[in-house]
Amino acid sequence: MPVGGRKQPPAVREHESATVTSQISGRQWELPGMWNRMFESRVLHDYSSQGFAALAALPGGESLEWCYGCGKCVPVCPVDLVGEYGPRKLHRKVQTGVDLLADPDLWLCTTCGNCLRVCPKQVDMVQVAPAGREAAIGQGHVPAELQDVFEKTFRQGNCLGENPRRRHAWTKQAGVPVRVLASDPGPVDVLFYVEDYWSYHPRGQQAAQAFARILTALDVDFAILGPEEKTVGDSQRLAGERGLFEALMDDVAATLAKYDFRRIVTPDPQIGNALRREYPKHGHHYDVVHTTQLLAPLVERLTWRTSIDATVTFHDPCYLGRHNGEYDAPRRLLEAIPGVTLVEMGRCKQNGYCCGGGGGGMWLDGFTAEHTDERLSERRVREAADTGADILAVCCPYEVSRFEDAAKSTGHDHLQVLDIVELLDQAMGGGAGADA
Ligand code: SF4
Ligand code: SF4
Repeated sequence: MPVGGRKQPPAVREHESATVTSQISGRQWELPGMWNRMFESRVLHDYSSQGFAALAALPGGESLEWCYGCGKCVPVCPVDLVGEYGPRKLHRKVQTGVDLLADPDLWLCTTCGNCLRVCPKQVDMVQVAPAGREAAIGQGHVPAELQDVFEKTFRQGNCLGENPRRRHAWTKQAGVPVRVLASDPGPVDVLFYVEDYWSYHPRGQQAAQAFARILTALDVDFAILGPEEKTVGDSQRLAGERGLFEALMDDVAATLAKYDFRRIVTPDPQIGNALRREYPKHGHHYDVVHTTQLLAPLVERLTWRTSIDATVTFHDPCYLGRHNGEYDAPRRLLEAIPGVTLVEMGRCKQNGYCCGGGGGGMWLDGFTAEHTDERLSERRVREAADTGADILAVCCPYEVSRFEDAAKSTGHDHLQVLDIVELLDQAMGGGAGADA
């Protein structure tokens, strides 16, 4: 049976008839072949162990070999729903001699972490995939579209290759003053780490402006780094560019050390994850919250000016939910908005489906399309539309553009995709008010 490729039933070896002999009477019966159906035996030996040895030699790569084939990971893997994937299938490929470092499958894992949640052997693709990718990059195996993003990030400090001096251009249309620490460097309570998509992408800028209006209405003392901000680069790390991530970390930590702030708020669950989990390994410690986590405890102070009469469904970002355990803050905010009826998709919270943007997937849509039947974002949009929702609410900067594109390509143009802060801002009448 081929490993990988499309799903295939096992090969059947069926005899036309079979003779069964009674051990008591000695009588014989002729049975039709259906009673004697056998399957071709699978060869489980005679393969080289070099593939596992190569992975085990990589820090983080060793756990794939611990798989004992129970299969729990496959039905929860978002990529398997649009193709052939999951740690068990990768294990089998390596077991049968495939060099994972040179195989397209290495790049399909979004590091969503759903397989690790159910795996009894703690096979950890969140470690295995980046480790394998780092080694593959060293061997010159890297998809061209990803290489382009690495180069843009290296040159400009952001994945979009935009001019660093235009990082805070979005503030001009925010409708409220936004303090930039480079020009106004005094102490501040909340450092708003805007990250790339909210800084540069037109839809992200709208969300950044909405968030600035909400913070102003709530009288939160906040500021941004502006042109001094560089991406934290966690998706680049998960896509295999650890060296780039560490170089960025040196720059980011040096910039942050210049300023006096109490905590960081970011809309990007990936970078929140990196600041919480990766930076401390290098001696950098910060108090970091997601935008929804900052706002949820303040929700009683928000003043509503209008009602949003709509059915809303919510997509859990993998790095806010599964990786960091936050499922309540976004829902608390949505449920507080007048007129909103929140409905859940079948796959939500711990078992939330991945948008396909994690682990570098954000920049691999073309590559992934060649190896799957459908984009993960398209599949998720269909799930959202099936709930009957008018609005798909998100709270990760990757998701608005991904899901808007997917809504168009799947014929669900009626489904509006909005960040939670945009919905809050709308209901507050453009951030016009909050109780002091
Ligand atoms: S859940 Fe873990 S042990 Fe079971 S098949 Fe998947 S990777 Fe292997
Ligand atoms: S981390 Fe997610 S995408 Fe990767 S193999 Fe596991 S379930 Fe599949």
